[in-house]
Amino acid sequence: MNLHTGSSLTCEVCVVGGGPAGSAVAIQLARLGYTVCLLERERFPRRHVGELLAPSVFPLLDALGLLCIVERAGFLHQRRAILRWSDDATREQSQSDNPGLLVERGRFDEILLTAAKTAGCRVIQPAIAHRASKAANGHWRIPFESYRKQFNLRARFIVDASGKRGYCIGQSTPVGPRTLCLFAWWRDSLEVARSNEHVRAAMRIEAGVDRWYWGAPLADGSYSAMVFIDPESLSMRGSDGLTRFYRRLLHESQLLSHCLKNRLIRPAKACDATCRQAKEVVGKDWIKAGESAFSLDPLSSQGIQAALRTALQAATVVHTILSRPTSREDAAQFYRQSCRDTMERHLTETSRLYAESFHSGNPFWQRRAIRTVSDEQIASDGSTSPPPRFDTRLRLSSEAKRVAVPLMQDNLIRKGPALAHPGLERPCAFVGGVAIEEFLEPLRNGVFMSALIRLWARRVPRRLALGLVHHWWNRGVIEELPT
Ligand SMILES: Cc1cc2nc3c(=O)[nH]c(=O)nc-3n(C[C@H](O)[C@H](O)[C@H](O)COP(=O)(O)OP(=O)(O)OC[C@H]3O[C@@H](n4cnc5c(N)ncnc54)[C@H](O)[C@@H]3O)c2cc1C
Repeated sequence: MNLHTGSSLTCEVCVVGGGPAGSAVAIQLARLGYTVCLLERERFPRRHVGELLAPSVFPLLDALGLLCIVERAGFLHQRRAILRWSDDATREQSQSDNPGLLVERGRFDEILLTAAKTAGCRVIQPAIAHRASKAANGHWRIPFESYRKQFNLRARFIVDASGKRGYCIGQSTPVGPRTLCLFAWWRDSLEVARSNEHVRAAMRIEAGVDRWYWGAPLADGSYSAMVFIDPESLSMRGSDGLTRFYRRLLHESQLLSHCLKNRLIRPAKACDATCRQAKEVVGKDWIKAGESAFSLDPLSSQGIQAALRTALQAATVVHTILSRPTSREDAAQFYRQSCRDTMERHLTETSRLYAESFHSGNPFWQRRAIRTVSDEQIASDGSTSPPPRFDTRLRLSSEAKRVAVPLMQDNLIRKGPALAHPGLERPCAFVGGVAIEEFLEPLRNGVFMSALIRLWARRVPRRLALGLVHHWWNRGVIEELPT
């Protein structure tokens, strides 16, 4: 990088942070033709928590054109899970049908950042971005520090992809109980043969009385072991020293105490693992992507998936705002709603997992299981009725209306058709990736349930077609056509 102290760089979009979210936004925007500069404070590869790529990440990597590269990188497939969760017994689950990947984040993040460079993005690393201000022409002025020298970057738009640590724009608030993660990497302690990847790559999850554990081997021969606790339980025993305290917790684990027979690669560290949500995720010339927008509970292992998904959406929102300023509010509304929906779904799902723990009577677990029965479920449970008979003639309720909502289409946010009904929480534009119009057409003049399922099953799997009829019937979106 040829930079002179005090020199000023100019680009259309500045991305702060080179984790999965920052790299993915940069790749997309560079491919859409924008000049993009990415500032990353750390040198890569660096160790990072968050090592299980759930299978839901693969379609997103595919959309970025990176799936083959990641698959060829030699990461371990997570083919087994060893669990001590819903009762005091240790159970084993095979995940061979649909394995996730256990990645060293140093290498994984480097693959994505290299792809951003290849796509044409200028990556400046190590570079710490400082608080941005507005220049006279209304563009951003972002001071940054690299090798102890100060520089300035001017940009029309800022993407804050700085992770949980957060860059300067806006604030985030906790949306669940505060949680602390103590973590370290060990020399691999599994006794099984190193060559037999299928046997080795077991992820371990365990519920403790007032904590939970996660552990997994990585392809570089290390073993990642984490303990999630209430922050107060650390301060109560604060005199201990973090590593000794962490070792003691591992000692009390049935599934991870095997680590203690081995050497720590580095002393244990602590990081915040609380679910958080930014108060605002998008403005007229800035957007937050990945964990700077919201962070999910690590129990779900969906953080990287959410980071990549928000990144792809954020790139589309930035493109819409910069190329069609009149659609700015639609684009912002789309992004806010999408972030809120993801967070809401996630909180409901993880609280269900916490409620399943065999220690669920303990306050640690009760606080985290609190959302188990959501308002939405209560509403739907109350109205559950048997599905319509196959010879019932169905039509769309007169209360159902076609409305226009902001949707992501062809790299832009545009208004598109959706179905609104008082029984639905929000307008529905797609089912199983298929546009809603396809489902409404057969209902126009009334249709027998059997024929409706046959027609919908040409568009989506039959199970989904049946589920949709049941859902819409319960919510009053479809009704029986009077004879
Ligand atoms: C304990 C724990 C375990 C987890 N386990 C999983 C898991 O198994 N699976 C999963 O999918 N997710 C997991 N997650 C979540 C996952 O780690 C995150 O969702 C993911 O890293 C978010 O990516 P990101 O790009 O938004 O942020 P990050 O990966 O944090 O990247 C942000 C980048 O911004 C840089 N940066 C920050 N400030 C500045 C600045 N001022 N200037 C320049 N650069 C800056 C940082 O150096 C960093 O590289 C876990 C999280 C935690 C806390």
